[in-house]
This record gives sequence, structure tokens and C-alpha cells, in this order.
Amino acid sequence: MFEKENNNKTKYVFVTGGVASSLGKGIISASLARLLQARGYTVAIQKMDPYINVDPGTLNPYEHGECYVTEDGAETDLDLGHYERFTAIATSHANTMTTGKIYQSVINAERRGDFLGKTVQVIPHITDEIKRRIMLLGKKGGYDVVITEIGGTVGDIESAPYIEAVRQLRYEYGFGNTLALHLTLVPYMRASGELKTKPTQHSVKQLLEYGLQPDVLVLRSEEDLSPELRRKVALFCNVSPNAVVQSVDVPTIYEVPLMMHAQGLDKVVLEKLHLPCEGEADLTNWIEFVERIKNPKDTVNIALVGKYTALPDAYKSISESFIHAGAVHQVKVKVTYINAEEINDQNAAEVLGGWDGILVAPGFGQRGVDGKLAAVRYAREQKVPFMGICLGMQCAVIEFARNVLGYADACSAEWEMPSWHKVIDIMEEQKNVSEKGGTMRLGSYPCRVKRDSNLYKAYGQEVIFERHRHRYEFNSSFLEEFEKAGMKATGINPETGLVEAVEVEGHPWFVGVQFHPEYKSNVKHPHPLFVGFVAAAIENRKK
Ligand code: GLN
Repeated sequence: MFEKENNNKTKYVFVTGGVASSLGKGIISASLARLLQARGYTVAIQKMDPYINVDPGTLNPYEHGECYVTEDGAETDLDLGHYERFTAIATSHANTMTTGKIYQSVINAERRGDFLGKTVQVIPHITDEIKRRIMLLGKKGGYDVVITEIGGTVGDIESAPYIEAVRQLRYEYGFGNTLALHLTLVPYMRASGELKTKPTQHSVKQLLEYGLQPDVLVLRSEEDLSPELRRKVALFCNVSPNAVVQSVDVPTIYEVPLMMHAQGLDKVVLEKLHLPCEGEADLTNWIEFVERIKNPKDTVNIALVGKYTALPDAYKSISESFIHAGAVHQVKVKVTYINAEEINDQNAAEVLGGWDGILVAPGFGQRGVDGKLAAVRYAREQKVPFMGICLGMQCAVIEFARNVLGYADACSAEWEMPSWHKVIDIMEEQKNVSEKGGTMRLGSYPCRVKRDSNLYKAYGQEVIFERHRHRYEFNSSFLEEFEKAGMKATGINPETGLVEAVEVEGHPWFVGVQFHPEYKSNVKHPHPLFVGFVAAAIENRKK
């Protein structure tokens, strides 16, 4: 059983982290996946989050960064965004789970009587459910390799059932068919000028206490690690020296796969999984992409107006989409986060003057919307390239209703204010829903694009599919008035007739979209709308 090899079935890689949180397990997982793809393997990545929320949909972005949305409408951790951006493979409900979700299904099973009167316990019932879910993705997708990232840090009480499940899986499924990769931190003590390996040794000891021996160690560090230091770590952690890999800070996360490849991570992993590793990895396109972002010919400046500006992770997919679009034009897109609460009609010119493009961000609730409306107005009147995403599009509609159509009380039904002009309203079927989680329009929907539009120029396609995450919609009973006054619906849902995109006539580039284009941008396919917006910003800069 232990060294059983079976090259016809999916191999499993487990990624854990120790010493500190936020070491970049998601980026390491995504980088490894990209390298295995470059070696000709099919790969999927999944994330297990040890918190009790059923999904991150109801979490404040300040708690956990952006909520990422998959094609099939799962509200997930932002790491799934990294997986998609690196591998260009769409994730789904099957790629994400939380402790909340695991307990929910075990408790539901208990209520149904599925356990036939047995005492329901963490071991085996919770661990069995974790194992079942881990294996599901490989079974369904038939991938060569499935990488499973375990959120949290080894030693946390809440991660323990996951580590135990991984230990059992390795035993049952065969050690040659699975691999444990552990990411730790090697701190640099500036005062003594030394790199310290003790925290890594302790972290591996902790894993061993749970019965899990790592096969590969990735050491995150600020400084280069000497071969001696790596040999020392190998010796004290029972890992072969070629399986100790360093991950030093690099200027862009997109360099991480190249850095891992240079140290042979793909080779070691394939060897340990008993998978052939012949010839060279095909990373040509990736290398070219990294070259383009590292050698920009120019800079464009974009103002991102939002309310979570103190934590840039809250807009992760948007900022990454700008990097992808910048690579296409070989420019650096410098995104400056501007707190919407600090903008008003009086200071808009002062705060927003000089930017090449303005993006009004998605969001929930009423806080900050006055500033967003002022930003839209400035962009519209001063003809600054503008992109509004979700709430940003809704603000574009409301601003137009207030300042062009003359409806001073125009607003969204989400805002608590009396109004005759709820130009953004709730859909009929949503009206009676009071729960907060999972009650939104989520996931991919089709959109028909009008020919004569900036949207069409960007996509070059008449029917597109984009992901949504919102409760409120453009109120179509006002559409005729808007169109007469110069705001056109250039994207319409062909099934429901809902307005998915608006543009302002006579403006060089003013596009508001109800969907979230940022979730679909990746290195392989930079998103056309961001590419178009950056092109407009470059044009504007020349003026
Ligand atoms: N709060 C708005 C809605 O629910 C917009 C959501 C968003 O920007 N993602 O419709």
C-alpha cells in the first residue's frame, strides 16, 4: 500500500503552511499547477478554508479580501482567483470548501438519520467528509494531478481535522500517489544578519506530531538561502536536499513559477509522484508575459474609487486584470486607490484631475456612494475614460438620472431613501428574500452586445458570458428615457432582457457593466474590456 504506484489515477498534492499566515500558499499552489501544465499534465486546484462561514460571501472584504466568484456562482476565497489567473482553468463549487460547509453536510446527514443512531464525531465523520470532498474533484474531472491547498497554519486548532484527513488519505491512497508540500518562513534577523531555520524545524515537527511527513519544503524568505542552509533544513526535516526550494520575494507574483522552475520544483514533484518528466517545460508564453510586465514602455495612471481602499486585497482581481491588460499594451498600469468617502462634487477636479482613467469599484451598502457619484460625474463631464463595475455601473446610471434626466431623488433600492426614481431596483423574485448569504444573482450569464459600441469593439463578439454578483438591477421601465438622453444599453441579457452594460454617447470611453469582468481575466487571456479601457487611458494620456 505504502509505495503503491498507479499511473492511471489522479495524483494528489497537498499544500500546507507553517510558521506564519499569508506566506503565499495560493501563489505557490498556482505556480506548481502552471508548471505541471507546462509539462503537459492536466491539473486542478482546490482550497479548503478552516473557518465556519459556509462561504466567504457574507465576509467583509476587510476580513478576508475580495470574494471571488466562479462560473457556476460559488462565492469563494480570493486564492481561487490566483488559480484561474495562473492556469486559465475555470474553477467551480467543487474547488472550494469551508469547515462550515463540511459541518453543514454532516449535520444534514445526521438529521436525515444517515448515521443510523451512531455518535457523530470529528473523527471519523468530519474527516471522512473532508476526504470525500478532496477526492471528488479528481474523480469528476479526471485530472492527472489535483492540488489541494489547506488554509490556515499548521498547529491551528481548526486546521487539525484537515491535516488528519490528509494523513489518512496518504495512507489509504498510497504515498507514491500523493505528495505533501509544506510552505514555511525563514526569517532574517537584521541585527545579527542571520537567517533562522528553527521556526521551519518546529513547524515540520508539528506536522510530524499529526503524523504527516512533508516531501517538499518551500521556504519563503527575504534573502537568498545558501546551499548549506538548505542542506541543514533537509537534514533536520527528513526531506531530500533537492526538495528544499526557496521562495524569495520577487517584484511580481508572475515570476514565482519561473523561480520555482529554475530550482526544479516541477521535476521533484513529478519524480515523487512517479510521473514521467521528460524534455523541457513549455513556458515560452509565460516568460514573454513576465518580460512585458517587467519592461513597460510607458505608464498609465488609473484612479480606483472604492470604499475598501485601505486593503488592496479587496480589489485583487481588478488590480491583476490591469496587470494582464498592461502586458498586452506593454505599459505599466499604476492603480491608485482613492477612498470614495473623500470625494464630492466640489473637490472632484482636485482629487481626480490628472488621472488617465477612472474606475468606480463594486461594493455593497450606501457608504461611499456619494463620492462614487461625484467621480462618475467628473469622468462623464470631463470625458475621462471610465469603467464602472457592478455598483460602479449602478452609480453611473444613478448619476445620469440625477444630472442629465434631472431626477434629483434617483437612487438604488439598496439605499434607504424615499424616491420616485429607483432607477436601480430589486428584481421581483428577490423581493421576499431576507437571508444575506447566497441570495444574489451569481455566476455566469449570457449578454448580447450591441454592434455599435465600445463593448463590441473590445470583445469583437456578439454574445459574451460574464460572471455576476449582485442583488439589484437596472430598472428597465426607465430605459427609453435614458437612451433618448444619450445613455445606451449596449449589453442585454438575451434571456431576461436585463440591462447588463451601459455607455454614454459622445464620450470617448464610458462603459458601465453590471457583471464583473475582472473574475475572468487571466495571463493566457487578458480581459478584452480591461484591454480596451487601458487603450482608452493611453489615448487620453497622449492628449
Ligand atoms: N450592491 C449592489 C447590488 O447588490 C452591487 C453589488 C456589487 O457591486 N457587487 O446589486
